[in-house]
Amino acid sequence: MTELPFWKVKTLEEMDPREWESLCDGCGLCCLNKLEDWDSGAVVFTSVRCRLMDGTSCRCTDYENRQATVPECIQLTPEGVDEIPWLPPTCGYRLVRENRDLYWWHHLVSGDPETVHIAGISARGRETVCETEVDVEDFEDYVVDWPWKVGEGA
Ligand code: SF4
Ligand code: SF4
Repeated sequence: MTELPFWKVKTLEEMDPREWESLCDGCGLCCLNKLEDWDSGAVVFTSVRCRLMDGTSCRCTDYENRQATVPECIQLTPEGVDEIPWLPPTCGYRLVRENRDLYWWHHLVSGDPETVHIAGISARGRETVCETEVDVEDFEDYVVDWPWKVGEGA
C-alpha cells in the first residue's frame, strides 16, 4: 500500500517545521507589494517587489535575517493562512487549507524546485521593479492582476 504524502494527511497545524517550510513553492508572489482599498478591503497586487527580493531569481536574498531589514515581512502561520486575503490561489498553504492537492509543478510533487518557474507560476521572468526605486505614492501605477491568474489552466 502506498503511503500518502504528508500534505494529504496532515493539517497545517499538525505539520512539523520542515514540512511547513517545504509547502512554500518559491513562487515569490507574496513578496510583491499589495494595496488595500480602505473602504472595500479589496487587495490588489503590484509589480513592485520587496527590497530583498532578487528580481531575476525571485528569491529572498536574506531569508534567515529578513525581518531585520523588512520588519513587515509576514511570518506565515496556520492562522495567518485563514486571515490573509492576498495569498494567491496557487499558494501551497492556501491549497492545503482548502483541502486541495498541490499542482504538478510544486517541488514536493515534481521533485524539482524549478518546475514552479517553468510552469510560469512564479514571479521569475516577470517585469517587476524594486520598491527602493518607486515612490510609495506611485505604487498604484504598478497594479497587476497576473498573480491572481498564474494558476489558471494549470
Ligand atoms: S505565495 Fe505561498 S507558496 Fe508562494 S512564495 Fe508566498 S508563501 Fe510561498
Ligand atoms: S523579506 Fe524576503 S521573504 Fe519577506 S517579502 Fe521580502 S523578499 Fe519576500
